[in-house]
Amino acid sequence: MPDFRSGFIAVIGRPNVGKSTLINALLGQKIAAVSPRPQTTRRRQLGILTRADSQLIFVDTPGIHEPRHKLGEFLNQEAEEALRSVDAVLWLVDASVSPTEDDQRIAALLGHLPSRTPLILAANKMDLLHGGQQDVAVKAYQDLIARSAQVVRISALKAEGLDPLVTLLNSLMPIRPPEFEEEQITDLYEREIAADLIREAALLKLRDEVPHGIAVRIDEFSERPNGTAYIEATVLVERDSQKGIVIGEGARMLKQIGTKARQEIEAMGGHPVYLQLHVKVEKDWRNRESVLRRLGYRLKER
Ligand code: GDP
Ligand code: MG
Repeated sequence: MPDFRSGFIAVIGRPNVGKSTLINALLGQKIAAVSPRPQTTRRRQLGILTRADSQLIFVDTPGIHEPRHKLGEFLNQEAEEALRSVDAVLWLVDASVSPTEDDQRIAALLGHLPSRTPLILAANKMDLLHGGQQDVAVKAYQDLIARSAQVVRISALKAEGLDPLVTLLNSLMPIRPPEFEEEQITDLYEREIAADLIREAALLKLRDEVPHGIAVRIDEFSERPNGTAYIEATVLVERDSQKGIVIGEGARMLKQIGTKARQEIEAMGGHPVYLQLHVKVEKDWRNRESVLRRLGYRLKER
């Protein structure tokens, strides 16, 4: 394949603009946790889209935000690292709302990109806007960046505008052989995705009662001879009061979280899942490196 094109695309955008939704839509399969609340995506994750003549490798980055504790620091490291050495940067914005301070900070960061790195501004959530509103919204974001960018209008949720986006990205990739096998769509293992999906289910069901102080640890992930995946996982919370909320009256909340998570993991893996959930208080886990490491966050030296 002499003309095969392949490359890495960093997907950048503040929390909640639809990065995970977009990558899932592009791949036609759920690999990333999506949440109406920010910061569901915690690790850097690849989404790999292979076509007959191209391979687009999307790097989904955790949201860029001010480091407030060790976990925040980690998220920023990951995002900055993703920006270096990619073949294009896709800046995703939520065009249904005005730019925020986070958008401004990202725009400033994008000003430091090497000029040879193509920048695409993808105005997402177009389904929420009509005609003239769209132009105004797009311009508000365009005005934030000092350099030129190609603009596409999409709805990740409705899978609209994605073909033109893929065509544009293909044209920007260097001629290079594929990096990954055709069948591989992500670099995360099923158990890591399962942990994210359990966390996503918990955040969905709990609404605003338990904030970000929640993490999921997979204690066992094994396949039974009948093809069922047996998963034992622990939901970690920061305080005793949160433990009660996660379990709920008569363990009803935990049951709901488990049911939702099981359905999502079954949809992802394509096989039946037996899921056993526990809840544990791990005081101040976000600031404890040992706990972060066990959860799979790799903290790097600066
Ligand atoms: P991330 O934090 O950038 O990864 O954002 P998510 O993919 O988790 O999405 C955040 C929220 O925005 C979820 O509730 C999505 O369903 C919603 N969302 C994503 N894309 C669209 C879109 O095109 N239109 C609308 N209306 N909602 C969207
Ligand atoms: Mg995400």
